[in-house]
Amino acid sequence: MEVVIVGGGLVGTLLAILLGRRGYRIRLFERRPDMRTHGYTGGRSINLALSDRGIRALERAGIADRILPLTIPMKGRMIHHQDSSLDFQPYGIEGQVIRSLSRARLNLALLEAADDLDTVQMEFEWRCVHVEPEVPAATFVHVRTGEQQRVAGDVLIGADGAYSAVREVLRTRDRYNYCQEYLDYGYKELSIPAGPDGSFLMEPNALHIWPRHNFMMIALPNTEGTFTCTLFLPYEGEVSFAQLYSRDRVHEFFAHYFPDAVPLMPTLLEDFEHNPTASLVTIRCFPWVVGRTALIGDAAHAIVPFYGQGMNAGFEDCRILDELLDRYHDDWDAALQEYQRLRKPAGDAVAQLALDNFVEMRDKVADPQFLLRKKIEVLLFEHFPELYTPLYTLVTFSPDVSYDQAYRQGQANERIIAEIMKLPNIEERWDDPALLPEYRHILERFHDHAS
Ligand SMILES: Cc1cc2nc3c(=O)[nH]c(=O)nc-3n(C[C@H](O)[C@H](O)[C@H](O)COP(=O)(O)OP(=O)(O)OC[C@H]3O[C@@H](n4cnc5c(N)ncnc54)[C@H](O)[C@@H]3O)c2cc1C
Repeated sequence: MEVVIVGGGLVGTLLAILLGRRGYRIRLFERRPDMRTHGYTGGRSINLALSDRGIRALERAGIADRILPLTIPMKGRMIHHQDSSLDFQPYGIEGQVIRSLSRARLNLALLEAADDLDTVQMEFEWRCVHVEPEVPAATFVHVRTGEQQRVAGDVLIGADGAYSAVREVLRTRDRYNYCQEYLDYGYKELSIPAGPDGSFLMEPNALHIWPRHNFMMIALPNTEGTFTCTLFLPYEGEVSFAQLYSRDRVHEFFAHYFPDAVPLMPTLLEDFEHNPTASLVTIRCFPWVVGRTALIGDAAHAIVPFYGQGMNAGFEDCRILDELLDRYHDDWDAALQEYQRLRKPAGDAVAQLALDNFVEMRDKVADPQFLLRKKIEVLLFEHFPELYTPLYTLVTFSPDVSYDQAYRQGQANERIIAEIMKLPNIEERWDDPALLPEYRHILERFHDHAS
């Protein structure tokens, strides 16, 4: 049986490994040159946060041991206030970390692991230009020679990212639901080099955030001692990319809003000028499965990057599809229908969570009321783990909980915390042990109501 995969990015290669290990013959087509011989030509973020959902999928593919050593654990958020003071907010309890990882290294490791399998054949510089979903078959054009080939298989999977050519064909069909929404924000990547001896110039085991209400900058560490910074800023308006039209304006802006970062960014002005400003899109579509053609990863659900879950969600798609093939004894029709039934709500939920988290990261993390709520959440989780789990923990550290379950639980959490915040003098008393029975009472009330 032959599976054709369109797209050899992060999700396509992981899927090739999982399905290749099942014994299917895999033909994977990627429009870019082979990065093992041509270097990395990808346009998107230099590093990514890998968390438990992604790791679970890598473990299933038997390659977590190759990839985890390439990562830097980040234990929490390091908040950089405008007066240059710092605050550290842990992501979870001891041992719960997210991991910064180079996109290029990850893609390379996945390509090498796919190449180790006799069942996987990868063809580079072939761009998919057409799909016949019911056959299923895809037509590819060689990007340099213009040569064409039509490839039919038993199953065809579009893992060709946010601007998927496979999805584009499905989109033109009758009763196809499609929605594409851009934020009014763009992002630009900048860099902080390593110190003279290759040391980190900021805390390496943290995700750094400079929240400035309606915009922000973040930085993730790289193993070379460098940091990749990303500035998220409105395209237009009083404080916006449109206003940063000269080197002086850029310098003034950074010196005003990110005074502690500027001395660490010697190439700031050059980076700002040369690096592109990229857009942020959410894409929702349905169905993901038409005949024996299916979408996976960003092709099915492109989301904004604020929960660090896009790739993790795509990896989880792969893991769940593989588990369903086990459950349905490789009956693809049954597995694909169940894949779509389970994953579409999960994709919608993680898209919404990612949009909501932008407000949290750029604004709320610096708000004392929000910090109090967070402290109460940690206290509830420590004392009553059977009754309360924070949303961040559900999304990031709980791969057994689907994104849609996490989303619903997060909404219930909001109501619980709102109730607790109404208790008299909660600001002073929140950690008074005498309040624990009251907390339990509130939690049980919500728990009974939900069940
Ligand atoms: C700024 C930013 C930060 C992010 N940070 C995180 C993070 O911290 N954690 C996280 O989990 N996710 C993060 N993401 C999301 C993550 O990058 C994506 O979810 C992930 O790359 C999706 O993988 P994919 O394989 O589905 O798509 P892609 O990585 O886009 O790969 C698609 C592949 O298909 C190929 N292709 C496209 N069209 C064709 C065609 N017509 N024919 C053949 N091949 C084709 C492309 O060349 C590419 O190799 C971030 C995204 C951005 C933009």
